[in-house]
Formats: sequence, C-alpha cells, structure tokens
Amino acid sequence: MNEKSDAIVVGGGPCGSFSALTMARKGMDVTVCEEHKEIGIPAHCAGHLSLSGLRRLGLQLPSRIIQNKLKGVVFWSPRGNHLSVGFNAPVTCVVDRELLDKYLYNLALRAGVQFLLGSKVESLLVESSYVTGVEIKSGNTKQTLRSGVVVDAEGCPSRLLRQMGMQATNRTMTVNAVLAEVEEVNELDMDTVEVYLGRRYAPGFFAWIIPTKEDTAKIGLATTVGNPQKYLQRFIQKHPVASKKLWRSKIVHQTFHPISLGGAIPRTYANGLLVVGDVASQVKATTGGGVIFGLLCSRIAGRVAYEASQRDDYSESTLSRYESMWKREIGLDLTVMLHLRRLLNQLSDSEIDRIIDFGVRLATRNILRQAGDLDFQGRSLMRMMLHPSILIPVTYFVASAFLSSLRR
Ligand SMILES: Cc1cc2nc3c(=O)[nH]c(=O)nc-3n(C[C@H](O)[C@H](O)[C@H](O)COP(=O)(O)OP(=O)(O)OC[C@H]3O[C@@H](n4cnc5c(N)ncnc54)[C@H](O)[C@@H]3O)c2cc1C
Repeated sequence: MNEKSDAIVVGGGPCGSFSALTMARKGMDVTVCEEHKEIGIPAHCAGHLSLSGLRRLGLQLPSRIIQNKLKGVVFWSPRGNHLSVGFNAPVTCVVDRELLDKYLYNLALRAGVQFLLGSKVESLLVESSYVTGVEIKSGNTKQTLRSGVVVDAEGCPSRLLRQMGMQATNRTMTVNAVLAEVEEVNELDMDTVEVYLGRRYAPGFFAWIIPTKEDTAKIGLATTVGNPQKYLQRFIQKHPVASKKLWRSKIVHQTFHPISLGGAIPRTYANGLLVVGDVASQVKATTGGGVIFGLLCSRIAGRVAYEASQRDDYSESTLSRYESMWKREIGLDLTVMLHLRRLLNQLSDSEIDRIIDFGVRLATRNILRQAGDLDFQGRSLMRMMLHPSILIPVTYFVASAFLSSLRR
C-alpha cells in the first residue's frame, strides 16, 4: 500500500464508492476504508429510487439489481381514504441495495480504487488544523494512513464528525426506522408504492409498502418516538387498510437504522476534509430518500477534491467550493422539503384525513402527475402552486399545521 494517497474515503456505502470512483476516474490515487468485511452488508435501505435521478447521475443499472419498476404512488390517510397518483410509464424503481453497493464498488475497483475492507476508521488525523489522514483498526492491527484529502462518507450517525467537533445532524429530527422484507402479501399492486400517513402508525414519518415481486414487498416505517418494531407490528395487525394485505405475511428479513430528516449540516468541509451523503444529512426530509442526492453531492465532492489535488491546496477556502456547488444543485429543494416535513409533523390524524379528502375532491392527482422531477420536490411544488387545485389544499395544509402548532 502507498504510504500516502491523494484521497482517503471513510465508508464503502454508495456515497463513499461514488466519490472514490469520481476521483479515480480523474487519475487520483484513492483508498476507501470500510469497517465491514463485505460491501453492501448489512443493507438497511428500501432502495426506492427515481429513474430521472439515476439518469442524471449517468447510472445505467444492470437489470439484476432492479427488483421492480413503479408507475405511481398511493397516499393512504389514517382513516383509510386514498389519493393515488399514477403515470403512464415507470417513474421510479426498487433496487436491491446490497447489489447496488456492490455495483458501485466494482466500478470504483475497476477505476483503480483500493478498498480496505474490515478496516474501521477510529479517528481522523489532524495536524496543524488540517485533516491529513485517518487512524484505522483492522482486526488487532492499528495503522495510520495519510492523504491530501479525506472524504467522510460514514453515513448516519456521524461518529467521526462529532469527534472532530463539527456540527452533526439535528438529532431531534432523526427518526428510527425499521425495514422488513415480507412474503405472502395480499392484493399487491405491482405498479404502485403505498405510503401510509398518520401518527397512530408512524409518528413523525410514514409507513410504506413497496412491491418487489409477486406477493413480496419491502415494508417499513420510521418514528420519532417509541420502538419502531412495535409500531410495525401494530401497522401489520391493526391498520384498517394495510392489515388486510399483511395479516398473513411472513417477515423474512428485518433491519433497523436511523434516518436524518433535519436538513443538511451547516458546514460540509474543513481543511483537508469533505463530508458527503447521510453524514452530511443530504437527505430529503419529506421521504427520507438519500441515495440520489447523496450521489449527486459525492460526484461534486470528487470533482472538487480533484481540483484541489491539481493545485496541491486542500485548504478550506479551496474545498468550500464543494458546499457552494452542492447547494446550488439541491440546496433549495432540501430547504423546502425540511419545511414541509416540519409542517407535516404538526398535523393530527384527522387533519391528514381532511387534507387527503380535499385533494381527492379537487382532483389534485391530475396536477401532481405534472410535478416534474420527483427528487427536486422544492422546485416541483413551486411550479404546481400556480394551480388552484394544488394551491387550495396546500394552503389548507399549511393553515392546519400552523393552527395545530399553536394548540400544542
Ligand atoms: C429503513 C431505511 C429505508 C431507506 N430507504 C431509502 C429509499 O428507498 N431510497 C433512498 O434514496 N434512500 C433510502 N434510505 C436512505 C439511504 O439508505 C441513505 O441515504 C444512503 O444509504 C446513504 O448512503 P451513504 O453512503 O451516505 O451512507 P451508508 O449507506 O450508511 O454507508 C456508510 C458506510 O460507511 C461505513 N462506515 C461507517 N463508519 C465507518 C468507519 N468509522 N470506518 C469505516 N467504515 C465506516 C458503514 O459500514 C457503511 O458501509 C433509507 C434509509 C433507511 C434507514
């Protein structure tokens, strides 16, 4: 192994591998440290991704990674009313997250990236106020690795970032999620992802059913309070709509992981350091989706790291370009989604029922269909607000949330 590489990446998740790939393709010498012995395991993600996002990233995934393609979404209110939004062609896909991670890892390997598996980064090395490398532990062996720049892609819950004294993700808006793969599900619509709103089943977030193949789905939910597994049992057994589909289902695999919904962290760079993906909370606060935005930011991080390497200048003033570039690309949307999440969290179940009813009556789904890019929800929402059939329920939603917050 080289004594000093151009870049060290912490974490072999999608964001780590993608930033490493971007740097290696530009000729940089890159090492990725991943604490697990195998890439993609354990997987904690439902893998629901927009097709437009994958196109934007230039990723043409092999068919073996894609479990299903979906043409729409149905929102269920707590009382069991629904608003469905369907498209003529698929707009999203469900990927096998283990295989996606392995795919990105293999692309990076082929581009010349060196992966140290089973190597946990215990701390970042800081010298003269610059991050200059990492301290790793592999088995019983400890080692110091040096580099021009370190890309922190350690994911949520951001242990190294906290160690550095940098402001990490807003814990009050972190939800605890459970994801389960289930078989023998009844009445699955293979074209549609189902979103179940309401405090009784998923306070602070929502529950979902994502069909993968006949009778088989990924289900899950996240909550701000309590044990997500208990909420999942209640959802499976008691939800007026979901229980009819899930009552005889079998859970074949289950995982737990936090999702950071608090908006991006205030600073994503320092001397010798770039922070990407979940650890930077580059996550859509409305849906918890972080793969597409995380990969977009990882690509930017890789390009900025390359520019810095060309100038041999890894100072924060050079690396700050990363933050201005990612904010230009997704900053507005992240902010709008954060406000939407805060408003959603204020609503009672009966208010959600009324908003869904309202949306159905005003044929809101026809307008939602024209929403445009599913990832860039901030821009899409602003465009749609020009329509009275969106403006009225949105105004009602904002007013209800505001009044609820006053009552609390
Ligand atoms: C239940 C659930 C469902 C989700 N569903 C979706 C979805 O449908 N669509 C979507 O877009 N997003 C979804 N997400 C979010 C998505 O999983 C994340 O946004 C995405 O995984 C972020 O990628 P990442 O590379 O930043 O972090 P991670 O995928 O968490 O990868 C971080 C990697 O770093 C490694 N690591 C951590 N610390 C160290 C260390 N000290 N040393 C070495 N290695 C280390 C970890 O082992 C891991 O491999 C979901 C999340 C959850 C919890």
